[in-house]
Amino acid sequence: MIQIHSFVFSPFAENTYILFDETNEAVVIDPGCLMQSEKETLADFIEEKGLKVTALLQTHAHLDHVFGSAFVKRKYGVKMYMHKNELPVLASVESRCRLWGIKGYEPVEADVFIDEGNVIKFGNSALDIVFVPGHAPGHVAFINHPQRFVIGGDVLFRGSIGRTDFPLCDHDTLIRSIETKFMTLEDDYQVYAGHMDPTTIGRERRSNPFLN
Ligand SMILES: [Zn+2]
Repeated sequence: MIQIHSFVFSPFAENTYILFDETNEAVVIDPGCLMQSEKETLADFIEEKGLKVTALLQTHAHLDHVFGSAFVKRKYGVKMYMHKNELPVLASVESRCRLWGIKGYEPVEADVFIDEGNVIKFGNSALDIVFVPGHAPGHVAFINHPQRFVIGGDVLFRGSIGRTDFPLCDHDTLIRSIETKFMTLEDDYQVYAGHMDPTTIGRERRSNPFLN
């Protein structure tokens, strides 16, 4: 049984997730911890729970999702998993931080490229990967069908969808990703997004103003 714990980090109010099961093996997804105190919050949780982090997963590589990636890689000796189409996004994080006046980002490199159809295993658990570009060119989501949830990144939010006014974004591609990869799931699937509260597929199917 997977447990999902989330943190809200950085001025961007980004949701960082840690997933773990009865074996205490864990994966960290999109560590957005920027301040030292935020890194300590994440590390303290992992220590208090006695978790063994086995992988660092990225839904995508926008700056607010990778602020703490170098820290997690180093502290837990794990590899960073990311879609290869995110390479230009990751490469631009340093310059975007300069542009926005953000200090404290430590550059990081991905180790393993992932794509739709791959499965991430930890403990007794597994996450299926789907490719959901649009908000970012190599955006992926992690789905667990037995427990019916999605770690969705910045694709589908409670009452909203991911922004597409950044470089390398495309609105029509995002809508197509949502319709073909998310809206094909049943109503009771929980969606844990990169910002704001969780939602369900059913709620967004009924009331999301960005979807017809
Ligand atoms: Zn993003």
